[in-house]
Amino acid sequence: MNIIIFGPPGAGKGTQAKFIVNKYNLYQLSTGELLREEIKNKTELGSQISSIINSGDLVSDEIVSNLIEKFISNDTYKNHIIFDGYPRTLSQAKNLEILLKKYNQKIDVVLKLSVSLETVKKRILERQIKENRADDNEEIAIKRYKTYEKSAEPVIDYYKQSNLLKFINGEAGISEINTEISDLIDTIKG
Ligand code: AMP
Repeated sequence: MNIIIFGPPGAGKGTQAKFIVNKYNLYQLSTGELLREEIKNKTELGSQISSIINSGDLVSDEIVSNLIEKFISNDTYKNHIIFDGYPRTLSQAKNLEILLKKYNQKIDVVLKLSVSLETVKKRILERQIKENRADDNEEIAIKRYKTYEKSAEPVIDYYKQSNLLKFINGEAGISEINTEISDLIDTIKG
């Protein structure tokens, strides 16, 4: 099964994706993590995108599309992907559908984690201390949240129409969310 985990920065997407990966034998495709790796490894792509990421803007659709196609086209990951941080816009959602079709795959469920801006700020500041991410500070966190809000609604509507969307209360504790997600996935798997 292929899953999308969707929500604002600091919603707990990465934490929950890692839990799902372990429990259901999936592979996490985090575009944010892949992009940070490029910066860390000082690749040419890394040097192109570091200022964009650090300012809280989105990198181009073309760059992220290339990254995810490498993953989707790889037989090892086929039908075992959890998309974390992609799609973020309607055009990315449409692109994902085209790419998945090309490789005979589909999305089985979209888990939407909802959290308030107050919670996002709090979690991002905690993460900044733990992980030292350059884009985790209050000002950039607010910008990333606003960027998310602007582009999220059409994505949510898109998946609502195809009946794939499931809402998860991202304000709950990590293990409560784990349970809610597991129950949902178990129901879908049948
Ligand atoms: P994340 O780890 O998902 O919070 O992503 C960190 C940053 O990477 C974002 O603020 C964007 O600059 C960039 N990024 C990650 N995923 C995407 C995407 N799907 N489209 C555009 N930019 C992205």
